[in-house]
Amino acid sequence: MIKAKKSLGQNFLTDENILEKITNSADIFNKTILEIGPGTGNLTSYILKKNPKKMFVIEKDNELASNLENKFNNQIKIINDDVLKVDETKLFKDEVTVFGNLPYNISTEILSKWIVNLKKSFWFDCLVLMFQKEVADRIIAKVNTSNYGRLSIISNWKLNIKKICDIKPESFSPKPKIDSSLLFFYPKKNFINIKDPNNLEKVTRIFFNQRRKMLKKPFNQLFNGDKKVLEKLKINLNLRPQNLSLETYYKLAFEYEKLRS
Ligand code: SAM
Repeated sequence: MIKAKKSLGQNFLTDENILEKITNSADIFNKTILEIGPGTGNLTSYILKKNPKKMFVIEKDNELASNLENKFNNQIKIINDDVLKVDETKLFKDEVTVFGNLPYNISTEILSKWIVNLKKSFWFDCLVLMFQKEVADRIIAKVNTSNYGRLSIISNWKLNIKKICDIKPESFSPKPKIDSSLLFFYPKKNFINIKDPNNLEKVTRIFFNQRRKMLKKPFNQLFNGDKKVLEKLKINLNLRPQNLSLETYYKLAFEYEKLRS
């Protein structure tokens, strides 16, 4: 019997309807699949039923990784490592479809790492990922809402995002204290070309540092009061950070990068 480790965010999915729903969210047949944090292999089994061409899993827990080895033998390639340390861009020849019931304590870190790593081309064709609902709500938040912020802006820069469903604690063992949501991400064809994603991170960090204050102070901090940028982007400095659209933030980061290069 495997004892779930809290420190690794281990809540295993046991609800067959949800497992079925997850595997119906993206094409699997004859594709290369990557699963993050397979745990006891419940989702892995469902994915394998749909005959992928190849399947990779990344699992940090040594004990679970060796159980998976016994359970699935050579049906999957196990990478027994920390997902935050793996360079996915070097692992695959084909474009991959990614599934993950992510460990909640590092879910936003995983997502930001992937977005920052999207240099020239996408190494995945889509991501089907589970987050705690409160985090998913921030990822998909619309402008002018209280959930809208850095995470929404960074996540939506190069990716289209759709919510598939919410999932209740009863679908897991052990039961988490919070609700979860399943999100579907796929690459955008067009996006503003910010060369260094750290510039987008910096611009959003400075604007959302004081989310209730007007835009004047953060704007001056980044652009030294440059009126040309204000006029070009038609920004009203009496607004608050949550009132600027996604596109305005991407344009601000683009202008900030231009200023510094
Ligand atoms: N996918 C399984 C399921 O749905 O039943 C388990 C999901 S559980 C929420 C998260 C899994 O991620 C656990 O198996 C845990 O050991 C693994 N994990 C935690 N931190 C990790 C990390 N940094 N890198 C890779 N796997 C990690």
